[in-house]
Amino acid sequence: MKKFGRILSVVLCFVMLLAFAACSKAPEKTDDTGLKTVESGKLIMATNAAFPPYEYYEGDKIVGIDAEIAQLIADKLGLTLEIADIEFDSIIPGVQQGKYDMGMAGMTVTDERKEKVSFSDSYAKGVQVVIVKTGSEIKSMDDIDGHKIGVQQGTTGDIYASDTPENGGYGEESVVRYANGALAVEGLKSGKVDCVIIDNEPAKAYVAANEGLEILEGTWVDEDYAISFAKDNTALQQAVNDALKELIADGSVQKVVDKYIKAD
Ligand code: GLN
Repeated sequence: MKKFGRILSVVLCFVMLLAFAACSKAPEKTDDTGLKTVESGKLIMATNAAFPPYEYYEGDKIVGIDAEIAQLIADKLGLTLEIADIEFDSIIPGVQQGKYDMGMAGMTVTDERKEKVSFSDSYAKGVQVVIVKTGSEIKSMDDIDGHKIGVQQGTTGDIYASDTPENGGYGEESVVRYANGALAVEGLKSGKVDCVIIDNEPAKAYVAANEGLEILEGTWVDEDYAISFAKDNTALQQAVNDALKELIADGSVQKVVDKYIKAD
């Protein structure tokens, strides 16, 4: 019994030591800014860089509206911006799991997404449009039914198009999902799909960059683009949002938008 008592006290000591070690662990990473980020001093933005003019490659650099606004925000917060190019579908899970500080990818605010992440104020608007090949038998939105529709996996275009006809969609079986917009447009060019549903500005950019494509007249619901954060990182969400508000108020956001989107 005595021996057991000794073992027990050794075990208890060990447990207490472990508990002490856990308590005295470095506090959650904060830096001079007082913000908790994945890496001290950095602001890591997750995006999908196949979404011009919001994010795309110029050489090996990711540029675009989101990249530039994020840079202005990082400058205001005294953080170094780092951009991670991942699949659109992985942005929200990555932000939720704390792999990235924020998601910025022409991302539409939806009620479903709001259950998973928190959003900044909106900094831009988008709308879904339809790209077809010039001369396509799809002449208007009403002709889409019964055709193959290319979408970017996990985007609002995907969500609307794959919904049931009762909900205004075309059904799961009509949809072909691609990892990004560029691949969906390749699918259209090679005849694997008959149209692509995608946000209006990337649609314009893809049509301008590829011969023989055009955008159908008409659009779906307006969408608000915003930056996403892990729900528990309210300090970062607020700091970024305050910076964004200032950048909207002083015209900096509009300046970036005007640089990339020329009025029609
Ligand atoms: N705005 C769309 C969405 O949030 C598409 C975004 C994107 O493909 N980068 O789902």
